[in-house]
Amino acid sequence: MESIIHIDGLKRHYMMGDTLVAALDDVKLDVNPGDFLMIVGSSGSGKSTLMHLLGLLDVPTAGIMEIRGQSMTGSSEAKLSWMRNKHIGFVFQQFNLLNDLNVIENIALPLVYRGVPRKIRQEKAKKLAVKLGLGKRFRHHPKELSGGQLQRIAIARALIGNPDIILADEPTGNLDSATSREIMQILYDLNDQGHTIIMVTHDPKLADMGTRKVTLLDGHIVEDVPGKRKKPEKTVEEGSGDGQRHGVGVSDLVRIGINEGLLAHQMRTFLTMLGIIIGISSVIAMSSFSLGSKQKQADQIRALGANLVKVVDKQFENERLVETRVTGSLGLSRADLNSLRNGIPDIEKAACVREIKLNVVHPLGSLSPRVLGVQGDYLEVNNLALAEGRFFDVKDWSGSTRTVIIGSTIARQIHALKEARNDSSPILGDTLLLGGNPYVIVGLLKEKAMDLDELEATSVSDPNRDLLIPLETLLTRTAHLDLRSEVDEIHLQLKNEDALTRAGKSIRSILDVTHAGVMDYDMVIPMDLLKQKQQSQHLLDILTICISSISIVVGGIGIMNIMLASVTERIREIGIRRAIGATKMDIMRQFLMESMTISITGGLFGVVLAGIVVVCVCQFIGLPVVFSLPLLCIALVASTLTGLVFGIYPAYQAANKNPVDALRSE
Ligand code: ADP
Ligand code: MG
Repeated sequence: MESIIHIDGLKRHYMMGDTLVAALDDVKLDVNPGDFLMIVGSSGSGKSTLMHLLGLLDVPTAGIMEIRGQSMTGSSEAKLSWMRNKHIGFVFQQFNLLNDLNVIENIALPLVYRGVPRKIRQEKAKKLAVKLGLGKRFRHHPKELSGGQLQRIAIARALIGNPDIILADEPTGNLDSATSREIMQILYDLNDQGHTIIMVTHDPKLADMGTRKVTLLDGHIVEDVPGKRKKPEKTVEEGSGDGQRHGVGVSDLVRIGINEGLLAHQMRTFLTMLGIIIGISSVIAMSSFSLGSKQKQADQIRALGANLVKVVDKQFENERLVETRVTGSLGLSRADLNSLRNGIPDIEKAACVREIKLNVVHPLGSLSPRVLGVQGDYLEVNNLALAEGRFFDVKDWSGSTRTVIIGSTIARQIHALKEARNDSSPILGDTLLLGGNPYVIVGLLKEKAMDLDELEATSVSDPNRDLLIPLETLLTRTAHLDLRSEVDEIHLQLKNEDALTRAGKSIRSILDVTHAGVMDYDMVIPMDLLKQKQQSQHLLDILTICISSISIVVGGIGIMNIMLASVTERIREIGIRRAIGATKMDIMRQFLMESMTISITGGLFGVVLAGIVVVCVCQFIGLPVVFSLPLLCIALVASTLTGLVFGIYPAYQAANKNPVDALRSE
């Protein structure tokens, strides 16, 4: 009959400092199907070492080792893990169950590493639990159960993969005699069903109760004799049934990640996550504030007048002014406005403005508005609207009428003056004295909401404080310096934002001609100024990203730290998982998944926190809520990568723990 295990010349040597320890030396053994092999020997004789070699948990120093005729020499770690998972079931003295898993999950664990679907696994595990007398304690955890029950679970776990060899290292060593008998009866029953069993025992009463007794002494087999037990008639077939795909499935990885990575140590995991949470939330929140304030500024610029270009006279004085006039430029004028209008088709609306210092007095008190002479589509260009009355018309301009239109702040001032005297007459139609001459109020402007602090450096002033008169009235009916340019500013509204930059050049070339090449004007495009201003804020954005990245890196180091601690704490778990068939890769994946679960959860918390903070703060300070979707994605990818990158080293450490050492560490 072909042997199930064949070893010859097997050696396992350890170096202890300078001395060589031959834990096993030149061992030859054939295990036949149906054997119930009792291994006995004094402590330190090499029994456990032999079991670990037979179980493919350890690699011999030298010698031949075959399972079902297949040589194991030089096999890859993954192949050994697969052979172990398929052929071998371990039962240990210390039970070696995973405390975080319940009865069913512990029993089903070997099938996880075969990629057997959860439902099938659990069905099988339940059947075995019932069969081994565990009743219905499916959801209990190892801590709640007795030694006898724990060993039954361990035997069920050893059996679930239908192995042909069961290795039991002193399975009754930690049990009282009654329970020992029960456990032995289970093992005998298994042997009767045809399972091959190799068992280490210290108990002299049990030593002869196998089909064979092998005695070890100082790493050598000194005796190999038949026992009292008869061999079973039939033996189980080679190989085991279900599951071919080796390796733990993604859903199981995620489950382990959530259970072990997140739930097992919630407080410590949360503290570890803080770095990621702070990093992700700060980068998202800061960028949202930055985007929000940029959008608000742009909205305000648009509100002041969409696609606005202002041509502003430089207002030279004294020699400079004379020199300019001599060169042939008359300064900014109504004629320029006409030339630009005729020359540039992109212009939709146009107006010109001139400021004048005048004393403004209402019969009830004096006022301090900015007085502007205006002509053209002044309201439309500057996005202003009338609340009451009318705007100037052709008659006002051609006839230089003494009419005024006032901004809302001025109107409120007059209103306050009237209220103080219980005068409820309308403001419209009142007469103001401008430089001593009477002007009739023909229109009131609507209030214009604006935040001037936000808009500094974009050449915007408050239109609510303005008092408008027809430009012609200003030019013909007030005293002013003759050489001064006719108008201060020309306002042009272009068809769209794209036309802004295009028009800039045309405006220059036209004004170049009319001003005889003298640059006595500036061109101001508020939207461009705003963009320049916002450009300079990029530095701040970059700084935010840097600081947040540092926080994320610190968070990553935190994760690495906690994962390394976790690996050290969970050495036994790693050993157990390896013993029941997990490959190094499975362990690596598991620990990587755990660190990534921490970092991804941290990232999600960060996003949620940022969302809450941004919505609240923006409500409070009146910014539009703007989230950048690409940035959200980048943040989540960054947190995922953090878990991956900083998880690699701990996962590598975990995967390379020697399973034998891991199991001995008790
Ligand atoms: P048993 O199980 O029969 O009590 P072991 O197989 O555990 O014996 O150990 C056999 C010998 O090998 C002992 O002398 C032990 O000290 C030695 N040994 C086992 N593992 C190691 C190791 N990792 N490093 C050094 N020596 C070891
Ligand atoms: Mg031992």
